[in-house]
Amino acid sequence: MDHPLKDITIIGGGPAGLFALFYAGMRGASAQIVDALPELGGQLTALYPEKFIFDVAGYAQVLAKDLVKSLKEQAARFNEPAHLGQAVTGLEERDGHFVLHTRKGDYPTKSIIIAAGIGAFSPRRLPQVCAEPWYGRGIYDVVTDPLEYKGQRVVIVGGGDSAFDWATQLRGVATHVALVHRSDRFRAHGATVAQFEEDVKAGRASMFTFHEIADVLCRPAGERFTHLVLKQVKTKATTEFEADVVLPMLGFVSDIGPIADWGLTLQKDEIVVNQLMETGRAGIWAAGDVTMYPGKLKLIACGFGEAATAVNQAVHWMYPEKKVAPGHSSNMAVFGQKDD
Ligand SMILES: Cc1cc2nc3c(=O)[nH]c(=O)nc-3n(C[C@H](O)[C@H](O)[C@H](O)COP(=O)(O)OP(=O)(O)OC[C@H]3O[C@@H](n4cnc5c(N)ncnc54)[C@H](O)[C@@H]3O)c2cc1C
Repeated sequence: MDHPLKDITIIGGGPAGLFALFYAGMRGASAQIVDALPELGGQLTALYPEKFIFDVAGYAQVLAKDLVKSLKEQAARFNEPAHLGQAVTGLEERDGHFVLHTRKGDYPTKSIIIAAGIGAFSPRRLPQVCAEPWYGRGIYDVVTDPLEYKGQRVVIVGGGDSAFDWATQLRGVATHVALVHRSDRFRAHGATVAQFEEDVKAGRASMFTFHEIADVLCRPAGERFTHLVLKQVKTKATTEFEADVVLPMLGFVSDIGPIADWGLTLQKDEIVVNQLMETGRAGIWAAGDVTMYPGKLKLIACGFGEAATAVNQAVHWMYPEKKVAPGHSSNMAVFGQKDD
């Protein structure tokens, strides 16, 4: 599917990309985000939604997921779209503008801001070879609709926030929920861990610490598995456990992917930019964790400033009559304000 031509397309909907989307609207530029993940927020949503952040200006403390909510609200003012669940896989120049490709469509755009952070995320898969054939047939690495697991015996693998969040949420839906983790140390919110431990104590759920999946069994032979063999990682003792569904919650792996082939200067997986956030290829700027320059700090606060610089530069490049300096939002007509 071909989408309408936009002034600015932002690759990545993390904090830098979300702020760039707002900023583009403020500067009167049409814009859109394309992100590989099914939800906006980048690392904040995927890796630490329940953690407090203390070093974002204007917030004494803010939960990562709440900061994303505010950024989304701020960007929504200009009604520009975010196309989610699709990684940008290609770039071409056609009819005097760029076209970004994803598996779901083509995105024509006059300019690009790469806010790709540490790259496109994808869920980390179970390392066991025995698990591989069951992906899509009982093993799922994304939970789309919890009600799909109604009446099922669900095993969640992992010890982080997602593992415990889903373990507690699915407990009321599934027939039984078991959590399997290779150690007894968890990287999850204490209250959620305590809640799940209560469920285990009350016999409503099970927890296998120091265990991993050793085999997937199908008894009788059929399309779906019926049992897992769990192995104690220290003693190597094995246990058979009835299960219909396995949800690996092992975090994400990231990859800068095709952006590495766009003729930009890279240092490891980071794009070298100058103080104007220029990448060296006309029409393409970068902002946020993906950038590298002397003194670069990988912080949300810095990503916001870089996004503003990138958008202001892009707007002036496309429309030279528009100044780089945006003026003050407190005086802008676009917000219903006027000069004092
Ligand atoms: C556990 C943890 C705690 C942290 N705590 C703090 C803190 O307290 N304070 C602080 O300032 N910073 C903190 N950080 C760092 C902060 O999260 C990052 O600096 C910030 O997320 C960078 O934002 P970004 O928008 O540049 O990139 P990201 O948040 O990484 O977002 C990039 C987005 O780009 C998308 N993407 C990448 N490649 C493609 C592609 N090819 N196609 C489509 N989409 C693509 C990704 O899917 C992702 O959604 C923390 C990080 C972690 C992991």
